[in-house]
Amino acid sequence: MRCLQDFLQETQQSGVAIGHFNVSDLVLLKAVFAAARELNVPVMVGLSEGEREFVVTREIAAFVRSLREEFGFPIFLNADHTHSLAKGIEAAKAGFDSIVFDLSALPIEENMRQTKQAVEALKAIHPSMLVEGEIGDIGTGSEIHDVSPELFKGLSTAEEATQFVETTGVDILAPAVGNMHGMLKSMVRGETKKRLDIERITAIKRAARVFLTLHGGSGTDDEDLRKAIGAGINIVHINTELRVAWRRGLEHGLAKQPDEVVPYKILPSAVESVKQVVASRLKLFNGEGHFAQRT
Ligand SMILES: [Zn+2]
Repeated sequence: MRCLQDFLQETQQSGVAIGHFNVSDLVLLKAVFAAARELNVPVMVGLSEGEREFVVTREIAAFVRSLREEFGFPIFLNADHTHSLAKGIEAAKAGFDSIVFDLSALPIEENMRQTKQAVEALKAIHPSMLVEGEIGDIGTGSEIHDVSPELFKGLSTAEEATQFVETTGVDILAPAVGNMHGMLKSMVRGETKKRLDIERITAIKRAARVFLTLHGGSGTDDEDLRKAIGAGINIVHINTELRVAWRRGLEHGLAKQPDEVVPYKILPSAVESVKQVVASRLKLFNGEGHFAQRT
């Protein structure tokens, strides 16, 4: 099986992006895997520190490895938003394919100093593990927010991105380009969309020349996502949209069988609901025309 780096290079050459979906239970993992297999596109699943605490780092690594081996399918595992080297080392030892080492809340100099140390320490344990660094402010929490953070204050510049990449040696960079973690209520209702600063992405890509990740992709305007991928985004993270679908699917499964207690009869509604969201996002990230031609 080729590694994540190979798939990033291949998708970059084809002008498409890899979808990254957060999972924190078997329903979400089954849904992501089923959608990616149906469309036959590489996929990343990620777990933040909180999600890893619930699922357990070594166990999710074993599960994803098992799927990859049994089906010979390119599903990769990412240690999303890791704030300490100790948690990063735990993920590296468990065999995660990549890590988001996120010290973006610190001043940039301190962020660079500690991220550089993390790159060296993690690659010493797991040489092919890809390390992603974070700059700028895109808010926290893949949840439903009442008010939007003031994103314009924390937007990344091309100079900052270049300096960060050169100093730290990260493989992947996550800049702040109008994206935001979580969704506003109006976005969940479909009344408003996040908009991205495409020119900023183009400038950062041209200057920093690394793989770029877009965090907080839920609720983003479809056309902006297409343009962002065209401008150099390689990985798009979707979490909140899946969580909304998970809850709706679960509620539907419970409501339609009020006396049912068998989990594997209730939970397929949640799997199906999440799978639909994942499939529609994967089609967009991988170029919809491609799937239209095949069907
Ligand atoms: Zn994120």
